[in-house]
Amino acid sequence: MPGNSTLTVHADREIHPSRAVAPPIYQTAAFSAEDGETFARGAVEPRGKDFYTRFGNPNHAQVAAVVAALEGAEAAMVTASGMAALTTAVLALVSAGDHVIGQRSTYGGTGSVLLNLLPRLGVSTTQVDQTDPEAFAKALTPKTRLILVESPSNPLLQITDLCAVADLARAHDVLTLADNTFATPLNSRPADLGIDLVWHSATKYLNGHSDVSAGVIAGPAELLDRIWDVGLLTGATLGPIDAWLLLRGMRTLPLRVPRHNANGLALAQALSEHPAVAKVHYPGLASHPQHKLAARQMSGFGGALGIEFTGGFETADAFLGKLRYSLRSASLGGVESLAVHPASMWRGMLSEDQIAESVPLGLVRLAAGTEDTADLVADALAAADAVHTPSASA
Ligand SMILES: *Cc1c(COP(=O)(O)O)cnc(C)c1O
Repeated sequence: MPGNSTLTVHADREIHPSRAVAPPIYQTAAFSAEDGETFARGAVEPRGKDFYTRFGNPNHAQVAAVVAALEGAEAAMVTASGMAALTTAVLALVSAGDHVIGQRSTYGGTGSVLLNLLPRLGVSTTQVDQTDPEAFAKALTPKTRLILVESPSNPLLQITDLCAVADLARAHDVLTLADNTFATPLNSRPADLGIDLVWHSATKYLNGHSDVSAGVIAGPAELLDRIWDVGLLTGATLGPIDAWLLLRGMRTLPLRVPRHNANGLALAQALSEHPAVAKVHYPGLASHPQHKLAARQMSGFGGALGIEFTGGFETADAFLGKLRYSLRSASLGGVESLAVHPASMWRGMLSEDQIAESVPLGLVRLAAGTEDTADLVADALAAADAVHTPSASA
């Protein structure tokens, strides 16, 4: 099997071969057929590529081929956003009366699907502490059909024991769906650990340039066929140009991820020794409570870290204002460093008590880009110096 860098460049070669070195953009809503039989076949071919763009397009198929190769999956499907990947998959896999288990520390949109959307459709849900090895087993019911995991989780960088969850789910005939956005297939391959399906916000590391919203799901063809059937109805189709941009972004994923990993680790190490900082959440630090588990199931720890300031809400917010290279933004995974203070982002939506329940008030999520490591570390240390007052660390 070729390596990841070779696969990201060549895994889509056989899809619509052309003499063009860079793949063409198939900016068309529909394709014509030579005869009735070909036309009828195109209408039912799962994830086909030349019938109607909502059913599939060569630009989607190229992205899917590369993602499937990197994830070690049989098939993959492209959607208009990460959330479209999640909701399409979940709608395909569960029905009213079923039960779904998810994590407490999880992406906000995933949390809202578990808390609001699924219960409204008659699907009961339980959110568990994924750092507790017993939690998933305790939450299982005879109606459980699906377990949603996310490792590392957003924004606390908690790790889920993917192997243990996959074994538990298999033993009870339950499907598993992992959000692999933070790890990327370069740092973690959930399918190798027994997880059935993997999804990504391709908006983040896969695309890597903060210029496309997209999602992908990868897994066994039989499950992808079911998800594709529902995708025809949700209609969350990625535009061909965006799929083309995503493929172009992905070509350099294996070059970018090692730099994100190096920058994330260097920032975590430097900031964890700073007197303004109470705690750094980063699975690559030996002091992370789940470091051993992270090291067992990941080959790198990613660019995102959580920094908790002793000075709380005000200090965390002020730190963001002092950073020169990290822009204040909710996204991550691009070449540019981005940082967010979750508590101030939610200020308009939740009470202070509600915020404090979901996230430490002094937490900053810093997502390191691909800038020079020394520059990012110097910038973050200078910003931490600027917000540090002896009284805040008392
Ligand atoms: C951004 C993000 C999502 C949602 O993806 P969109 O592309 O914004 O729909 C899901 N999971 C994680 C971990 C994310 O960071």
